[in-house]
Amino acid sequence: MQFTELGLSPELLRAIGEQGYTTPTPIQAQAIPHVLSGRDLEALAQTGTGKTAAFVLPLLQRLTAASTATDAANTPLQRIKHTAPRALVLVPTRELAQQVEDSVRAYGKYTGIRSLAIYGGVSINPQLQTLRRGVDILVATPGRLLDHISQRTVDLSKVTTLILDEADRMFDMGFIRDIRKIIERLPRERQNLMFSATFAAEVRELAHTVLKNPALVEVARRNTAAELVTQSVIRVDQAQKKDVLLHLFETHGWHQVLVFCRTKHGADALAKRLDQSGIRSAALHGNKSQNARARALADFKSGKLAALVATDIAARGIDIDALPQVVNFELPHVPEDYIHRIGRTGRAGASGIALSLVSIDERIQLRDIERLLKREIESSILPGFEPQQTRPTPSSAKPPMGRRSGAPGGNSNSRPGNANRPSRGASGPSSGRSANDRTGAPRPARSGFGGKPSGAPRGDRGAKPASHHSGQRHQ
Ligand code: AMP
Repeated sequence: MQFTELGLSPELLRAIGEQGYTTPTPIQAQAIPHVLSGRDLEALAQTGTGKTAAFVLPLLQRLTAASTATDAANTPLQRIKHTAPRALVLVPTRELAQQVEDSVRAYGKYTGIRSLAIYGGVSINPQLQTLRRGVDILVATPGRLLDHISQRTVDLSKVTTLILDEADRMFDMGFIRDIRKIIERLPRERQNLMFSATFAAEVRELAHTVLKNPALVEVARRNTAAELVTQSVIRVDQAQKKDVLLHLFETHGWHQVLVFCRTKHGADALAKRLDQSGIRSAALHGNKSQNARARALADFKSGKLAALVATDIAARGIDIDALPQVVNFELPHVPEDYIHRIGRTGRAGASGIALSLVSIDERIQLRDIERLLKREIESSILPGFEPQQTRPTPSSAKPPMGRRSGAPGGNSNSRPGNANRPSRGASGPSSGRSANDRTGAPRPARSGFGGKPSGAPRGDRGAKPASHHSGQRHQ
């Protein structure tokens, strides 16, 4: 299929051509006709599938058509309509807000449609000025939009299209009440589009209350990790991770690596350490000013930085074509975050590599991730960095409160379809290793710290396994 077959206007086709796109991605081919027809849409699509253009292009087309109709009538009342936004895109993060608005500008270059991204962490004044001048498409994070609503600096009464982008993520970040408050401010008659990487129960519930007779478009199976991403695990002690990461930078000559940490503090410390070791790095997290975040991202995209050390939320909106390498310095507590993380690479058809450094304290997170992926991730030990820790630290058994676990069923000791797999309790007597550990005999690489041995990482992208059992799966 070609873009020309989708019924898009010449202005849009010209802008798409300038972006270098020739054929629509599956989500675009499926979603654009529905959105153009004015229907509500429920779309299951991960980041990297081209979902932004899937809603921005038909939205631009509909708004341009509506403007032309009202301009022809040209009455003062209709001109007033144009100052208030006619479309609202709600997104979970500042970076995503900026990225979506960049797409609106790029694709809408020849349409005259005006857009604005509003988000926190930056001065509200430029946003006020642009809102006063008039905006057609408003892209907003919920918190800053509510600020504008309470100060009566935004008029949502003319919104004809609502788009909830990365709806699952908005739940994870606790925005659901804000979203509901915002929706109350919108006219009842409107088109609604919802995009989500997963359809967890709460996302479905929101879909039921917001969407009317939606078309359903699905381009990825539920919770499927980007299939082009080669994933592997290196088992290592927590204390050794920094050295292992430096070693990997050295041996692989990495030049653009997105590294994930769980905490802001951890991200700062790691970026500093990498920088001190000659690997130009910056941290990206919510405590950084918007300017610092934008600069770090720009430097990373342009190749000035070899590593960007990010927390999950900060990294959410990162869009870099052909990012080759993602490293999970620590595994996330929420398994779906792993999917989002590895989705940073392997975008729009490119192949990517996701490597996770996993300590014994993260065995539960690894097992939950593998359960979500419905497969084991190949795991190995890096010679010279063999893990010495034989027992998990007791505090590692539970993820922190307040975030949902994505593991279905909640029984962390059961593994569907793997009944014979020995499972280890969180801190019970069996959670230590075998006598081999104490004798220093070579150990196989095991996935999940409790299962059967698995092979080495594919290709030369990960570490070489220290040893294998006979009969072990090799590539
Ligand atoms: P998204 O899923 O919207 O974050 O898009 C992921 C990446 O795919 C972005 O870098 C887009 O520029 C790119 N992209 C979107 N649509 C197409 C297309 N039809 N052909 C090639 N690349 C595209």
